[in-house]
Amino acid sequence: MTKITIAIDGYSSTGKSTIAKQLAKALGYVYVDTGAMYRAVTLFAMQKGFISENKKDVNSLVSSLDEIELEFEYNETLGFSEMYLNGKNVEKEIRTLAVSQFVSPVAEIEAVRTKLVAMQQKMGKAKGIVMDGRDIGTVVFPDAEIKIFMSASPEKRAYRRYKELLDKGEEVDYDEVLKNVQQRDAIDSSRKVSPLRKAKDAIEFDNSDMGLEEQFERMYNFALRVIEK
Ligand code: C5P
Repeated sequence: MTKITIAIDGYSSTGKSTIAKQLAKALGYVYVDTGAMYRAVTLFAMQKGFISENKKDVNSLVSSLDEIELEFEYNETLGFSEMYLNGKNVEKEIRTLAVSQFVSPVAEIEAVRTKLVAMQQKMGKAKGIVMDGRDIGTVVFPDAEIKIFMSASPEKRAYRRYKELLDKGEEVDYDEVLKNVQQRDAIDSSRKVSPLRKAKDAIEFDNSDMGLEEQFERMYNFALRVIEK
């Protein structure tokens, strides 16, 4: 069967990765969470003290980019790939609200995007890939056979993220999570370099009132139709 590229973009916490992961598994495709890559670079910048509450040292981060080695390693037990930063599993650390608060300012740095986009294009060269992020259908794979743009109301998204963080044992406040989701959307949509946009040929998918099963069914059937064409 022909292998295709599936690009899933959209706002923060729309459940892109959950659906992308399921889709990849069902199709026997590779799944790449590009948000994890931006999060890992952000964690690196935080650890080095390049970014904090009142500081953003772009020059130091840019000149240290060659020191950052990112790798995805498949975890058989969990059934998905985990993010490694310079050989260390950082899957838990990159999902914290602290990293979420600095990731969009880091993701708007051009040199950071150039490095990560090149890595992503390499990973998808052989097709048979489901990749999610903000610029996959517009910049990384503008020729992807399937492009999906996911959205849902900010409140629904914040509530989902809030519950996810609570389930992971992080003490968070709903209003703080909502504020973070809105701030990230604002920065991601207005940045100069590859802003978050729906690609002209992307299919918009609002899942405010849709359960996971229905979302998966719809996307999976759609993907099969495109693959079998
Ligand atoms: O997908 P996730 O919410 O984990 O992404 C975290 C952040 O990384 C986004 O808010 C955005 O700033 C950045 N990002 C990006 N381009 C991508 C993926 C993520 O700018 N392709």
